[in-house]
Amino acid sequence: MRGVFGTTAAIAWDVWRAEGEGPEGIARRQQARLAELVAFARSASPFYRHLYRDAPDDVADARQLPHVGKRELMENFDDWVTDPHITLARLKTELLSDLSHLGRAYRGKYLVVTTSGTTGEPAVLVHDRISWVVVNLVVRIRERRTLVRAGEVRRLLRRGPRAAALVAGGGHFAGVVLTESARRRAAAVARRVRVFSVLRPLPELVAELNEFNPTLLYGYPSAMIQLASEQRAGRLRIRPVLAISSGENLSATGRAAIEASLGCRVTERYLSSEVPALTSQCRNGAFHVNADWYILEPVDENYQPVPAGVRSYTALVTNLANRVQPIIRYDLGDRVTLATSPCPCGSPFPAVTIEGRAGDLVSFEAPDGRAVTVLPLALGTVIEETAGVRRFQAIRTGPGTLRLRLETEPDADRAQVQTAVEQRLGSFFATQGTGPIAIDHADEPPRTDRSGKFRQVWSA
Ligand SMILES: [Zn+2]
Repeated sequence: MRGVFGTTAAIAWDVWRAEGEGPEGIARRQQARLAELVAFARSASPFYRHLYRDAPDDVADARQLPHVGKRELMENFDDWVTDPHITLARLKTELLSDLSHLGRAYRGKYLVVTTSGTTGEPAVLVHDRISWVVVNLVVRIRERRTLVRAGEVRRLLRRGPRAAALVAGGGHFAGVVLTESARRRAAAVARRVRVFSVLRPLPELVAELNEFNPTLLYGYPSAMIQLASEQRAGRLRIRPVLAISSGENLSATGRAAIEASLGCRVTERYLSSEVPALTSQCRNGAFHVNADWYILEPVDENYQPVPAGVRSYTALVTNLANRVQPIIRYDLGDRVTLATSPCPCGSPFPAVTIEGRAGDLVSFEAPDGRAVTVLPLALGTVIEETAGVRRFQAIRTGPGTLRLRLETEPDADRAQVQTAVEQRLGSFFATQGTGPIAIDHADEPPRTDRSGKFRQVWSA
């Protein structure tokens, strides 16, 4: 049996070669890895064994298989995972309920993250070692020319690398878990990388960032936009070399604001907890699907394939690297559009546009009349993490009013959930420095907008 280093070297070599072999080499790897993953899932996951009972013995194409959704998988969690030592109940008591365990390898070998996804039903995702080896290698090799430029590396080394992760605290979310896991592995990393929860009051965040003086920023673009305006106002005084945006869409105006105020380039990474290295950004700014290790299928509302150039209703994804919790034709909920023509960069990997959640700010009024901007993500997390909430939408209807559409868990008492959400929002708004915000509970349930998109927090 090959050791971890041998495996890593073999995967690294293969990631290099796939790029050089072009579309045929990529398709061959995808097909072989899918067949192996499906065979493994059938043997080790009772959930998939049952689901695939009518599927062909040898699967050559993902479209021969049924798709799966987060709710169904989470309801069958213990049968979904392929390591019988893992159960959802034990994961919750041994790891997820305690934030001091953030980034710890579960059972010595698994990284566990929870989502705060756009449908409001958090998923618990377990990645094995090979899954993370593939993520790290694919990111480093495929984004070697775009993620950090040579001049930026020199400036980072001269000023000292200090990375500030702008992520949502309060849960085992991917951004925090990855950062804390790196900090746990080496004391040198722990000193140079710090997590800053964007859920905390802005003045505290600004003071701590001034003290830490980061040379690298990564995380939510909405948080960076907020920091850009603090920098313009003179309260924040940092000089990052590079900002890496992920977790939300970055608009052109948002990018311009960050670049102008913080004086650094902004690059984008698409990070999904289920398929962490699904795409890599090329030097032309396009996102290319790493199709040798991940499958992306744009589909319509009936889960039929959508041609290139047409925006999909949702996207099915397959993670060919992770065995402990097979993600095969999983409904990601994001709308994607495959490019119709080859990218000028010459990459053999298909280019795609992904529409994630919007990173626009919403603002409320402070008692002195000043506007207080709030991150939709922070506001959304406060609601989403309330016990009994299944899905929600929060609409800012005025400088002091917020309308809520709540869908509660079937066994929850609706009135109690509403009161709990109001209390949590009350303390959140107090720490953000707004005046009291009136919460109006709508009768209608959460729903998609006219374009069919499900938004969580926005201004009416
Ligand atoms: Zn390209």
